[in-house]
Amino acid sequence: MKIIAGNWKMNGSAVALREMQDALSKIDTENRVILCVPFTLIAGAHGVAAIGAQDVSVHDHGAFTGEVSAQMLADAGAKYVIVGHSERRMYHGETNDVVREKAQMALTHGITPIICVGETMDERDAGKTMEIIESGVRESVPVDGGDVIVAYEPRWAIGAGITPTDDEIAAAHTLIAETLAKMGRGGTPILYGASVKGGNAAKLMSIPHVDGVLVGGASLKSDDFIPIIMATK
Ligand code: PEP
Repeated sequence: MKIIAGNWKMNGSAVALREMQDALSKIDTENRVILCVPFTLIAGAHGVAAIGAQDVSVHDHGAFTGEVSAQMLADAGAKYVIVGHSERRMYHGETNDVVREKAQMALTHGITPIICVGETMDERDAGKTMEIIESGVRESVPVDGGDVIVAYEPRWAIGAGITPTDDEIAAAHTLIAETLAKMGRGGTPILYGASVKGGNAAKLMSIPHVDGVLVGGASLKSDDFIPIIMATK
């Protein structure tokens, strides 16, 4: 069983989500399929894929205009939430500390956080990939609380149509698994994300410690998403 999570980012509509759920209901898979959709689509979502959000507030409730709390996500039916996506880190200045607070908030309300870590191109060029991954996990993943999912997303490869080599992905995922084990979180699922497509999904998911994938662009249309899910049944 693999975990196949889609990140719709700021895309989609109620009709598109219904069409996707309808298409997903016709396939036969043991994999856990998650769709992380915009806030507006969560409450009306029905179907076989579990629904997730793409961000959550660090606050519980109160005067925080525009924010959405973990309790509200749970109330709307979200089972997962992506935290620390590179676009949140890049455009909203989210640090590992903020990401950990968000993950903690999700756990408090029974939502599984999908915690993203990964290096920028500059960090890669500076030979800091492993350091960034290790500190990202150590500082972004709460030590206590329920189950989490970690996603390794090399930021330079997101939406770029390129991926690290299999050996690089294996090294990154092994480091993440070891770091999580030291934190008492051995066995946490670790997803790979960045430029996953139907054509590379099977190979990526055969790499050691790759327990599934987080998919951006190719999760928007069932014709692209279903081949990824079916790459390993
Ligand atoms: C992402 O943004 O989480 C992602 C994996 O994007 P893409 O699949 O489009 O590279």
